Amino acid sequence: MNGDLLAAIYSAFDSPSREKPAISARVQITCPECAKEIPLTDANPSTDVAICRACGKTFSFAELSVDATETDIDLTKPPNGTWVRELGDGFEVSATTRSTLAFFLIPFVIIWSGAFLGACYGSQISEGRFYWTRTLLGIPFLLITLVLITGILVGICDKIIVRDSGNQASVSIGVGSLRYTRRFRWSEIKRVRELVPFYRQNGRDLCRIELEREGKPIRFGSQLTEPRRKFLLAMLKRIHTAKR
Ligand SMILES: [Zn+2]
Repeated sequence: MNGDLLAAIYSAFDSPSREKPAISARVQITCPECAKEIPLTDANPSTDVAICRACGKTFSFAELSVDATETDIDLTKPPNGTWVRELGDGFEVSATTRSTLAFFLIPFVIIWSGAFLGACYGSQISEGRFYWTRTLLGIPFLLITLVLITGILVGICDKIIVRDSGNQASVSIGVGSLRYTRRFRWSEIKRVRELVPFYRQNGRDLCRIELEREGKPIRFGSQLTEPRRKFLLAMLKRIHTAKR
């Protein structure tokens, strides 16, 4: 059944409607609550308000138009670092948080840690004597090395996996089998959206994906590069709409 869903999601892209309209400036916004189209006469970009007449709720116009532009993402072409895989009873969408910075850090950590740990502990081993001072002095360096190695492992191997099997779904984050998993049902998800922070830190954008539901929302993806996050977001939105 889920294979069918995936096929349906993809076939939507094979249809002629996939062709971009000639006038791409035309933004079509839909109500996130009832999924009805909101005519542009009910939206005011200058005050950032859009009203849905069907359910009488108001929304941020900017947020809804961001949603509208995401439909341009081609889900059949996952960007580098993202995967869509069919499973026996469903499918999974994954994205790696892998960054090139992590690879650059490897030689640095080897040299830096090698030098300090060699001075503190290697010297004791080669002299065959035990020194309290060097042992204690080495502890902070040992801890920093562990933190750096963990950082590198996360930077290289960390992966976000969204798994779907029937009505059950989960988002897990982590390295290998060390994962932090949050389970949810598509039926309880009210909205899939991108959370854009009010400020941007050090030029990095800290946008996250949010699965809004009753109670605590599920948020993730701030470590993803923008193309990967946009792809994952578009994919989740498509699944959410298809399951509704
Ligand atoms: Zn509505």
